[in-house]
Amino acid sequence: MSATDTVTEATAEAAPDATDQIPFSLELSQDQKDIRDWVHGFAENVVRPAASEWDEREETPWPVIQEAAKIGLYGFESLAQFFMDPTGLQMPIVNEELFWGDAGIGMSIMGTSLAVAAIFGQGTGEQVGEWIPQCFGSVDEPAVAAFCASEPDAGSDVSQIRTSAKYDEAADEWVINGQKAWATNGGIADVHVVIATVDRELGSRGHAAFIVPPGTKGCEQGAKVKKHGLRASHTADVHLDDCRVPGSCLLGGKEKLDERLARVREGKQSRSQAAMQTFEASRPTVGAQAVGIARAAYEYALDYAKEREQFGKKIIENQAIAFTLADMKMEIDAARLLVWRASWMGKQQDMVFENAEGSMSKLKAGEVAVWSTERAIQILGGNGYTREFPVERMHRDAKIYTIFEGTSEIQRLVISRAISGMKIA
Ligand SMILES: Cc1cc2nc3c(=O)[nH]c(=O)nc-3n(C[C@H](O)[C@H](O)[C@H](O)COP(=O)(O)OP(=O)(O)OC[C@H]3O[C@@H](n4cnc5c(N)ncnc54)[C@H](O)[C@@H]3O)c2cc1C
Repeated sequence: MSATDTVTEATAEAAPDATDQIPFSLELSQDQKDIRDWVHGFAENVVRPAASEWDEREETPWPVIQEAAKIGLYGFESLAQFFMDPTGLQMPIVNEELFWGDAGIGMSIMGTSLAVAAIFGQGTGEQVGEWIPQCFGSVDEPAVAAFCASEPDAGSDVSQIRTSAKYDEAADEWVINGQKAWATNGGIADVHVVIATVDRELGSRGHAAFIVPPGTKGCEQGAKVKKHGLRASHTADVHLDDCRVPGSCLLGGKEKLDERLARVREGKQSRSQAAMQTFEASRPTVGAQAVGIARAAYEYALDYAKEREQFGKKIIENQAIAFTLADMKMEIDAARLLVWRASWMGKQQDMVFENAEGSMSKLKAGEVAVWSTERAIQILGGNGYTREFPVERMHRDAKIYTIFEGTSEIQRLVISRAISGMKIA
C-alpha cells in the first residue's frame, strides 16, 4: 500500500456523511455577502463622496442619515437583522464596510446603536418595544440616540460617576442630576440613555440606566466638542438638572434594581454593571469600525504606490514601500480575524470570554487603524499630509479607536487580569 493509499483510506474513514455539519468555516453565506455588498455600495456611492464636506462642516450629516433610512440601512429592523445573524459576523461586516466609506459619517449612522444596545440588553420587552423605534425616528424625520456614561471625572473609571438618580415615590418619578461628558449625539438625540448612580457607596455596582424621553425638561446640551477627527459625528456634554423621568424609564424596572442592590449590599456578586455590560457587548463591533478605516487607508495607499513614480519607477517597486503595504494588509487581516472571533464567541451559548477576547479585538483593531493610517500618509508623502487626500482624515478618525469604548491601556488591563486571574493595577 502506498502513502497515497493510506491518506485516501484515512480520509475516506474520516469523511463526514452528507448530514454532518461542517465544523469550521470562514466562508461567508450568500446572505452575508449580499448585505456586505449592499452596504459597500452605499459607502462607496453616498458616504465617500460626502466625507470631506461633513468633516469640514463638523456637523451631523442629516441628509446622509436620511438616505441610509430610505434604503433601510438606518433603522431598528436592519440593526435587528444584522444582530440576529447566528454567526455573529453580520454586525462587524456591516460596520467595516460603512466605516470604510467614512468614519465620521459612519459614526453618525451607527452612534445610535450604543443606546439601542443598552435598551436591548437591559430593558424589559415593553421598554424595547417603546423606546428603540424612537431612537431612529422615521424615514421622513430620522432621529438619533445618545448613550451617556462618561463624565468630566469619570472616564476610564466609571465607578466615579456622580450623576445621581433619586426615586420620588409619591410621583413615581426618577429625578436625575449631573453632567455627562463626551456623549455622541448628546443634546441632539431624541432618546438619551443615561447611566446614573442610585447608591454611590456601591461604586459601579450602584449604577442604573435610565431613558430620558424626547423633550424632557432639565436635559440640555452643554458645550459641543471640537474634535481632532470623527468630526461629522456630534459629541457634546449633557446637563441634567432636576430632570424628571417616569418610573417606567428605569431600564429593567425597579423590582429588578432593588433585588440587585440587595444582593450587592449582602456582599453577593452583582450580575450586572450597567455601563460595563454595554461596553463589553459592543467592543468587537467598534473594532470592526477601526478595521474599516485601516482598510480604506491601505487600499488608497496601495493604488497610489502603484501609480506614483520617483527615480524612474513606481514607488511600490521599492521594498520599503512594498513591505510596508504587505505588513498593513497582514495586520488588517489579523485584526479582522480577532474581531470575527470575538463576534462569533458572543453568539455561542455558554461560551465565556475567558481571555477577554472582545477587548483583544478592539485593542488590536484600534492600534492597527492608527498605525496603518499613519503609514498611508507616509506612502503618499506630502500629498498624504494635505486635506486634498483622504488618508489625512482617516488618520485623524482612526485615533479615537485607541481612546473610546475603553482606552488601549484599559483593554490591556482587562486582558491581563483575565489571563492572570490577578489584580493587576
Ligand atoms: C469622540 C468621542 C466620543 C465619545 N462618545 C462617548 C459616548 O457616546 N458615551 C460615553 O459615555 N462616552 C463617550 N466618550 C468618552 C470616552 O469613552 C472616554 O473618553 C474614554 O473612556 C476615556 O476616558 P477619559 O477621556 O476620561 O480618559 P482618562 O480615563 O482620564 O484616561 C487618560 C489616560 O490615562 C490612562 N489610564 C487611566 N486609567 C488607567 C489605568 N488604570 N492604567 C493605565 N492607564 C490608565 C488612559 O488609558 C488614558 O491614556 C467619547 C469620547 C470621545 C473622544
